[in-house]
Amino acid sequence: MADQLIRATAAAGGIRVVGVVTTRLTEVARQRHQLSYVATAALGRTMAAGLLLASSMKRPQSRVNIRVRGDGPLGGILIDAGLDGTVRGYVDNPTVELPPNRVGKLDVGAAVGRQGYVYVVRDVGYGYPYSSTVELVSGEIGEDLTHYLATSEQTPSALVLGVFMGSQGVEAAGGLLLQILPRAAEDEEMVTTLENRLSALTVFTPMLRANKTLPQIFEDLVGDMGLEILPETQLVRFHCPCSFDRMLGALKMLGEEELQDMIEKDHGAEATCHFCNQVYHTDSDQLAQLIEDLRVERQQAGQR
Ligand code: ZN
Repeated sequence: MADQLIRATAAAGGIRVVGVVTTRLTEVARQRHQLSYVATAALGRTMAAGLLLASSMKRPQSRVNIRVRGDGPLGGILIDAGLDGTVRGYVDNPTVELPPNRVGKLDVGAAVGRQGYVYVVRDVGYGYPYSSTVELVSGEIGEDLTHYLATSEQTPSALVLGVFMGSQGVEAAGGLLLQILPRAAEDEEMVTTLENRLSALTVFTPMLRANKTLPQIFEDLVGDMGLEILPETQLVRFHCPCSFDRMLGALKMLGEEELQDMIEKDHGAEATCHFCNQVYHTDSDQLAQLIEDLRVERQQAGQR
């Protein structure tokens, strides 16, 4: 199944369900950043969560940033996901590897750490992003973001995230978000039923590996509650908007003195994009051109 995001509702709109398959884009991130197994799982879960959180936003340019900052050896995680289906991200220490946890799974909680914070920034496209911070619960990402949704956004939600690694790389990755909207949250019997079913659904990636599609998984979960799957299947992908020109723009902001220094000492400059690990090289001529541009801009500003 291609990487994709599908939305559905149930209980006459009282329940919102979103599922995302991120197998390929997680593999792209693994290769770009040369991530260890546990780092792939940590970043993969956070990227899937970002796409799920962004999926409920309204304006096309809306984006979500999630920063996870724990006291474990992985350091921080930062992802940037958009309603447009693009996501990018990185971890501070991509090569950290840990033995599996007691149940034989990749020990994301120990890699991230159990003390620390999750910061979520939602940029709705009006220029005033709003942010919220919660403490980590377990460092396993899914629980931490479920806690965030319950406390900061006050929507009873369940988030299931998973990344399954094989010897050749990522074999299955994705996530599922289920939210109970206020008018349905009063129905205690339904909330209990949903909680029970979700706790049985802690194994999301095995379903994907068994070639279950998102609509089939939705059917298993809320098929008897008036499930309505929205017709649009949205493709999702790893994408970073960085470019050589943007990198030049960033270098230019360092100013003439610094650029001159780079020409004399290094005969050029090398810059790496944190988000996608793309390396950009500039030579002395290109740096000299930036200095020239700065001088022209200064003259023009003086003439005004
Ligand atoms: Zn980039």
